[in-house]
Amino acid sequence: MRVRHKSWAKPYIESHPELIVTNPEEWVGKWDSRFPKQQPLNLEIGIGKGQFIIEMAKKHPEINFIGIELQESVIAVALRKLVDEQLTNVQLVETDGALVNTLFKPNEIDKMYLNFSDPWPKKRHAKRRLTSSAFLGSYKDVLKDGHQLEFKTDNRGLFEYSLISLNQFGTNFEYVSLDLHNSPEQEDNVETEYEAKFSQNGPIYKIVINFKT
Ligand code: SAM
Repeated sequence: MRVRHKSWAKPYIESHPELIVTNPEEWVGKWDSRFPKQQPLNLEIGIGKGQFIIEMAKKHPEINFIGIELQESVIAVALRKLVDEQLTNVQLVETDGALVNTLFKPNEIDKMYLNFSDPWPKKRHAKRRLTSSAFLGSYKDVLKDGHQLEFKTDNRGLFEYSLISLNQFGTNFEYVSLDLHNSPEQEDNVETEYEAKFSQNGPIYKIVINFKT
């Protein structure tokens, strides 16, 4: 997803250092200190405009959330929502999810989310998919043993690729849905922006795994 450059984004981000980090390497080993309460830490990569992470944080005040997003003009929109909501259990990080295992200690994360990740349909771009093996290796490093990674997409190609990639990497499949919105789990589902926009066009796929140890 590419969005138009927003000239207000950079100064807005710079004016909210209490909610967003742009120098994540300086916070390695100190993420807990950015939250008022020491509680489990969940991580979403590719938060987009932040609807999911903000709704999750409202629903789960007993969890701290970190949301990573690569694009400045996108994360600035998420930050604006976060400022409006005045939540203390969400921190945003403007960075590349590929760096996740350099930013967090082994076993620091309690749960991870990937929602509607860019599909990168061309074969030569497969390594950029957030469920490719190099990314999975980083997630395994930072996620506590036996803890879950949840993945949702509307893209059949990315869903099939991810099933194969996860299986080849070595994961236990806890849940797979070919049509989340018509399954009992929909009751607890927190929608993302993409999901709200595209779920009329076809099924939403969901995978929940833990990594084999
Ligand atoms: N998760 C949101 C949703 O479901 O509405 C946004 C989905 S959008 C298709 C994918 C988002 O992932 C984009 O905002 C993109 O900038 C971000 N993204 C892609 N690759 C990333 C990476 N390596 N690290 C962090 N964010 C990434």
